[in-house]
Amino acid sequence: MTLQYLLLFSCILIVHPFSLPSHQVKLGGGSTIHNKRCRPLRTSSHLPPKLEHLVQDTLDSDRKIVVVTGGVLSGIGKGVTASSMGVLFRAMGYRVTALKIDPYLNVDAGTMSPFEHGEVFVLDDGGETDLDLGNYERFLSVSLTKDSNLSTGKIYQSVIERERVGEYLGKTVQVVPHISDAIQEWILKVAQTPVSRFSKVANDNDDAKDEPPEVCIVELGGTLGDIESMPFVEALRQLQENLGYKNLCFAHVSLVPSLGDPAEQKTKPTQHSVKSMMQLGLRPDFLCCRGKEQLEPSTVSKLSLFTSVPKGAIVSLHDVSNIYRVPLMMIEQNVHSMLAQRLRLGPYEKGVDYSMVEDLTQIEESVVIKDWKKLADSVDEPESECVIGIVGKYIEQGDAYLSVVKALTHASIATKQRLRIEWIEASSLCKDDDGDDAENVSDETAWDRLKLCDGVVVPGGFGSRGMEGKIQTIQYLRENKVPFLGICLGMQATVIEYCRNVVGIKKAHSAEFFDDLVKDEEDAVIFMPEGDRTRLGGTMRLGVRETVLLEGSIARKMYGSEKVMERHRHRYEVNPALVSRLESAGLQFVGRNTDESGQRMEVCELSESTHPYFVASQYHPEFTSRPELPNPLFLGLLQTCKKTAAAKSKATVAN
Ligand code: GLN
Repeated sequence: MTLQYLLLFSCILIVHPFSLPSHQVKLGGGSTIHNKRCRPLRTSSHLPPKLEHLVQDTLDSDRKIVVVTGGVLSGIGKGVTASSMGVLFRAMGYRVTALKIDPYLNVDAGTMSPFEHGEVFVLDDGGETDLDLGNYERFLSVSLTKDSNLSTGKIYQSVIERERVGEYLGKTVQVVPHISDAIQEWILKVAQTPVSRFSKVANDNDDAKDEPPEVCIVELGGTLGDIESMPFVEALRQLQENLGYKNLCFAHVSLVPSLGDPAEQKTKPTQHSVKSMMQLGLRPDFLCCRGKEQLEPSTVSKLSLFTSVPKGAIVSLHDVSNIYRVPLMMIEQNVHSMLAQRLRLGPYEKGVDYSMVEDLTQIEESVVIKDWKKLADSVDEPESECVIGIVGKYIEQGDAYLSVVKALTHASIATKQRLRIEWIEASSLCKDDDGDDAENVSDETAWDRLKLCDGVVVPGGFGSRGMEGKIQTIQYLRENKVPFLGICLGMQATVIEYCRNVVGIKKAHSAEFFDDLVKDEEDAVIFMPEGDRTRLGGTMRLGVRETVLLEGSIARKMYGSEKVMERHRHRYEVNPALVSRLESAGLQFVGRNTDESGQRMEVCELSESTHPYFVASQYHPEFTSRPELPNPLFLGLLQTCKKTAAAKSKATVAN
């Protein structure tokens, strides 16, 4: 044999995967990793270096991925299922992160209407995302990043950008492998991005430190089989092969409706949904069945027979009294132990069907689950009721103010009150000079309903519809000493109202709605100098900024600290030139921020001696509220409502 042949032969020995002992895997980069199972079909030599590196890092760090898919219909509860699984991992002591895949073409949710898509959730880093990310942050107690929301638009944009700079030079760029590889890279990158357990709001404790996660929950939006989610499905199939079976599992959320009298649980929709999932090359490890009642044993057997999912791994996610019961319901069905077994986390019993494992992990006594039980119980056993009015523009779309509702819920749980929300369309509250409804006459009960509220929130918003109604609402709340929290546009309306009715600038308004305000002083709210009027996507003042709170203020008392970090999403701000006049008239700007373009007004309030609770913030406090850690401004509102309601009922008894 010539020297050349010898060299070639030894090279083959080094790089060919079959030439290694069965428990070792060779990745193209040259290092050897130990992995008990055979390497996946798609050998490493076919992976582009970036992806290969990420796969290796995931394997080296023993990081696990749980993919949650949905079938039959949208809005079935994939988000809650996925975040509840996250709670189980947290309770087992793992640091968890999440990724939401939205197969639409928008690059992010920033330009989407709340009417169509519900609220835009804002992250610490200014990412404008799908509202599901809010659910993840609240359940997992983590602060996520922009990249935790992936859309078709984002992935195509990144691949096209790479193509333009010549990264794929000479190649035809295709959905498979280029888009599918980019999706896998994205998922693995998010899975390794350090996360803090709480937003920076929690300040300097250990949980606020960023560390790489151990588990990543990936939720695939939409319903399996949708045309637009195909590249993601294919990427997930390949990812399982690249990482190996033990490192990635699938949980499929489906519907089991009950029909007839007596009601019979129907398995066909789920059977079909699993069949189409399998046709796409994905096999569910867990079947999470949504329905009114708990799954009957006969339903479980039938589902198992037709889908090949082991009986134990068919999870009944029936209706419960409140959302906090979902992780508890999963624990009762031993989902945590099954997940741990399936993903070889903790003690692993070789050869045992993962769905037959005993409760290995005993998480019921963990702090996380104890807290969760307390939360669930206090929702079901309130001491009193509290009616909070939400006066806004997107009232018909229940999800448009989701985080505001959640933040109110957290504060109501903490103050042991049952929360009842009175939804009031702002444009129905607008009276013109003759006292007639000016903008909208459709809801004559609006003022009556407002007057029955214990407290009111005027949340953020865009556009002029309902603005006058909001301003008049705030005047009523101020004059009648009704507890009030204004958020973003709600704070801007507060300042306009005060300028008009207390300071005496009758035509005060916001530059958002009137470009031709006559005098500067009528510009109570101005366009921020660094804004961009032409490009609307991602150009607002976005994300977390520091606010310094004044000693002795209500806000400072509620937060208990001088500096707080809260999230923003706005283009306009209070006109700093008017601040001294407003302050001498009684509206105090107790929270300010100093950034590149000078001082920004962040929180304003009336003193406690003037009004029980009249607070408004330019930032959005709702985004950082957590079930275990309600946002202080919402807590202040609900505490005041409880106090004033108790005082009112005492007065009625005395009469
Ligand atoms: N439209 C206002 C602005 O851009 C308020 C925005 C909001 O409420 N999020 O400043």
